[in-house]
Amino acid sequence: MKLFVATHNAHKLREIAQILPGVDILADNPVGVEENAPDFAGNALIKVRAIARRHAGEWAMADDSGLEVRALGGAPGVRSARYAGRDGDTPANNALLLANLAGVADRAANFTCAIALVDPDGAEHVVTGRCFGRIATAAAGVAGFGYDPLFIPDGHTRSFAELTADEKNAISHRGRALADAKKILTAYRETK
Ligand code: IMP
Repeated sequence: MKLFVATHNAHKLREIAQILPGVDILADNPVGVEENAPDFAGNALIKVRAIARRHAGEWAMADDSGLEVRALGGAPGVRSARYAGRDGDTPANNALLLANLAGVADRAANFTCAIALVDPDGAEHVVTGRCFGRIATAAAGVAGFGYDPLFIPDGHTRSFAELTADEKNAISHRGRALADAKKILTAYRETK
């Protein structure tokens, strides 16, 4: 089974391949698509529609994810990748997050991941996964990407960046959304 995925993020592709073994994952990043929806599901749909039309009769998938911090009213949210201004500037994003939470006692936060799928018949599906935790007062760990060194998932004392890929996938927002996406892929296959 082929699955075209709308991303250029190598970390995400690796996570997806680990969770969907046996699926032929093919990256097809949509260029020039504006992710201007107010929520993760809307942006995932914008991206998946942009690539699905190029792969009629095949599966297409896109995800949109980000970090939501309670004390910041849900920010950085859909602006997670460009929180500090420049898209994908992880050191600046993480520094700004720590600065905005300086002296703030409520560190509660969650990652959210929406996955949109277009099946070979052209029907759309959306699933959402969340992982709850808190923002640390200093970065720790080198694994993963983005805000991983600052996010400590509930039930853990280590950040996402200190967990192995398997440990992160088992509890992460993307892992949970992918588990639901896998159910949709499997159910479709069983009807054919
Ligand atoms: P995207 O738009 O789904 O690629 O993700 C937006 C941003 O959210 C990323 O650039 C990261 O800053 C952040 N993000 C999403 N998922 C994760 C994760 O698993 N770990 C750390 N940061 C993440």
